[in-house]
Amino acid sequence: METGKMDRAGHAALSALGAFLLSPPEDTPPEVLEAFSLFAGPNSEPLPPRLFFEAVEQGPVAISITDASARILYVNHAFERLTGYPRDVVLGKNQSILSNNATPDSVYQGLWRTIQDKRPWTGTLVNRTRDGGDYLAELTVSPMLDRDGRIDYFLGMHRDITKVHALETSLRQQKSLIETIIDAAPVLVALLDERGKVLVDNQEYKKLLGDLRGREPAELLRAAIREQAGFDPIATVLGGQAFKDLEVFVALANNRPPRWFACSGERVTELDEGVRGYFGNDVGGMPRVLLLANDITRRRREAERAQMENLRARLAEQQFVQGMREALTAAIYQIQVPLNVIQAASGMLRDGGCHPDSLAGMIEQIRATGERALQTLRAALPEESRELGAVVNVNDMLRQVLELSTDTLLAAGIVVDWRPANVLPELNVHKTQLRSVFKLLLDNAVQALNESNGVHRELRIATRRVGDGVEVEIEDNGVGLAAEDRLRVFEPFYVGWRNRRGRAGMGLALAQEVVNQHGGYIQLDSAGGFGKVAGDDIEPSGSSRGCLVRLTLSNLTGEPGRALSVDGEP
Ligand code: FAD
Repeated sequence: METGKMDRAGHAALSALGAFLLSPPEDTPPEVLEAFSLFAGPNSEPLPPRLFFEAVEQGPVAISITDASARILYVNHAFERLTGYPRDVVLGKNQSILSNNATPDSVYQGLWRTIQDKRPWTGTLVNRTRDGGDYLAELTVSPMLDRDGRIDYFLGMHRDITKVHALETSLRQQKSLIETIIDAAPVLVALLDERGKVLVDNQEYKKLLGDLRGREPAELLRAAIREQAGFDPIATVLGGQAFKDLEVFVALANNRPPRWFACSGERVTELDEGVRGYFGNDVGGMPRVLLLANDITRRRREAERAQMENLRARLAEQQFVQGMREALTAAIYQIQVPLNVIQAASGMLRDGGCHPDSLAGMIEQIRATGERALQTLRAALPEESRELGAVVNVNDMLRQVLELSTDTLLAAGIVVDWRPANVLPELNVHKTQLRSVFKLLLDNAVQALNESNGVHRELRIATRRVGDGVEVEIEDNGVGLAAEDRLRVFEPFYVGWRNRRGRAGMGLALAQEVVNQHGGYIQLDSAGGFGKVAGDDIEPSGSSRGCLVRLTLSNLTGEPGRALSVDGEP
């Protein structure tokens, strides 16, 4: 009821004010008219004068009004809430009551210079609340002038920007962290716009720019991808198709070898910093291309060199095999002649019609052609290569040989049980010769398994430390070996295989020589229990199933080696 009365009274007063302003008395001073018209609303509908006070009083920004020397005359509720000071405590005090002494004096000097120059000042101060809490205040001080242009009052408005500042600081820190990481990345990074212009790059990019003597790496890579992969990386990525680890080369000037790069491209959208992007809609978001390029020149060159070496080795091997074939074919042909003569001589002797002179002539012919065949074979004998000792881990050598034979083992359906010792002494050995011995023993095991026709084909390879040396066991469940053959297999030219093709019977004889050079021994035995596998169809007669090859090795020099783990680590 009371409020209704007040409203009606206020409304009546405002109507009267409106009427007054529409036709004011002639002698009304202009200041009065100006002051009254300030309360007038649209169409000269006056607003209640209290509204202006309430707007300040209830406004969400901390507001203070001071005299010309910053003595507080008025503060609103938001000021009380933000600073913790009740109105009656701060009235009459200087605004410096809020200072926490962390704001540099130069800032205050700037503030005062500006406001005394009758201009508004906006800046940031470090303030302290009544209970001692620090906060960052974004303050605007506006001078309020009297009719003669003198400073009457100052209007201060401030808000707490502590959280905004913390956010900005953490953003700045994150930005600088990301920039450091991108700069330190061993990969070339470039952010490109739709025309291929570089917007952001990193140290690796700049390094390449220097190497290319100012030619833009992004342009060269773009051209290389276009030429070598047949698509434009920027159009493709912006069209929504990323690419990864595409290997291209960039030709360099002055006949320098080309540089190889593994390139990846991905589309990223740069958010619009403008006001239109404020609500997070995609309006104005700029599509960009993130180009990453990893310099793989060294890897490519190493791969090419390895390929060349491999090719060279294969060519040399082919040449060697071809030479041996030719020499053996010639020797076979030459040996055929004395054999024919011997056959003729024995026929003549049998018939009793052989004259001693003609027999002597025939024997001479046999000698001469036999000698020629021998010469052919001697000439074909390759020179013995002198190998220097090298320090190796036998586990590594066996693993390499196994890897080399993977295809053969898979094709023959052989299950390999590889049991390397955890720690082996490092040995000084003739590396190539020893590797050939392991390869021969593995090939023998494969042949034994192939000749057995067994269903379950197994191969067990184990190493163990024996004093300062190493013992290697290669065991198969193949055809096995008769007891009486266990020594004969080391005789030169002994071949016990059913399939003799490509076998000269020298493998184990030479292997024994190599193992002896390494202060060890090699022996073949029947496989203890390992050979007895259920489901095998053939049980060879006269020999137990399977074969166990055991060999020991020590240093060429006889010196003890350093202990190495399975992985070759000390
Ligand atoms: P002071 O000696 O008071 O001032 C430091 C320097 O400011 C002086 O060396 C001098 O160069 C200059 N200065 C101070 N007073 C005057 C003057 N009357 N005329 C000319 N130069 C002068 N300060 C805050 O720390 N936090 C606030 O929130 C804040 N709000 C303000 C709001 C308004 C409306 C105004 C007018 C001032 C405000 N100030 C505020 C400034 C405050 O009045 C002090 O100047 C400031 O706090 C520094 O106080 P002080 O005692 O450390 O040093």
